[in-house]
Amino acid sequence: MRYFYDFHMHSALSPCGDNDMTPNNIVNMAILKNLDIIAVSDHNSAENVRVIMERGARKDLIVVPAMEIETAEEVHVLSLFPDLESCLSVQQQVYEHLPKIKNKEEIFGEQLVLNEEDEEVDRREGLLIVATTLSINEVFSIVNAAGGTAIPAHVDRDSHSVISNLGAIPDELPVVNIELSRNCDRDLFLEKHPELRKYGILRDSDAHYLWDISERENYIETEQPITDVKDVIELLKKPLTGITGTKVIA
Ligand SMILES: [Zn+2]
Ligand SMILES: [Zn+2]
Repeated sequence: MRYFYDFHMHSALSPCGDNDMTPNNIVNMAILKNLDIIAVSDHNSAENVRVIMERGARKDLIVVPAMEIETAEEVHVLSLFPDLESCLSVQQQVYEHLPKIKNKEEIFGEQLVLNEEDEEVDRREGLLIVATTLSINEVFSIVNAAGGTAIPAHVDRDSHSVISNLGAIPDELPVVNIELSRNCDRDLFLEKHPELRKYGILRDSDAHYLWDISERENYIETEQPITDVKDVIELLKKPLTGITGTKVIA
């Protein structure tokens, strides 16, 4: 069975995320694009996850609780969790390690917390797009201890990636899967970085706008049916080598 996914996108909570990235719009767009599983991974926060999960559940869309955590080394780590509680417990730890800088909305954008009707119920005052004081090792331990899985995000990018910032994936870091950007040429990239072939590879959109959410293009192939978030996390704790793919869209 193939399950088409997009595990990396931003809601209106991320200052850089478009304000149209609301719970209902995201879920409806994912349904329209015929995706089976999504995760909304806002910068250092998961305040909109509960509502998006609820909206997804009504439409049989699996929504994985997530966050994109920025480490002290300014590396982005896609963090996915088996349930809302574990995600929110890690969010709390992230907040405790987030420098207290006030968001300047006119420069960075608004950070909106939304309800089931896409209405604003709060806005985060502290700037979310900053490095936490957690090292990449600490982020991996915290996420793993909570039962989640940590994935170095967009490793092909020139900034905020483990390769760009640290030169390589540290040997002691318990990396299982890595994420490539949607437009990265996977084969060419792996030719340049053969040392990364040992990891499973995911590709996500990192959408900040509705239209950028992935099409039905990246999939996980598995014999066991995926019925809920826990099944997704169990799969992602193993390297996805050989069981992921990208469908060529004409
Ligand atoms: Zn990122
Ligand atoms: Zn992102």
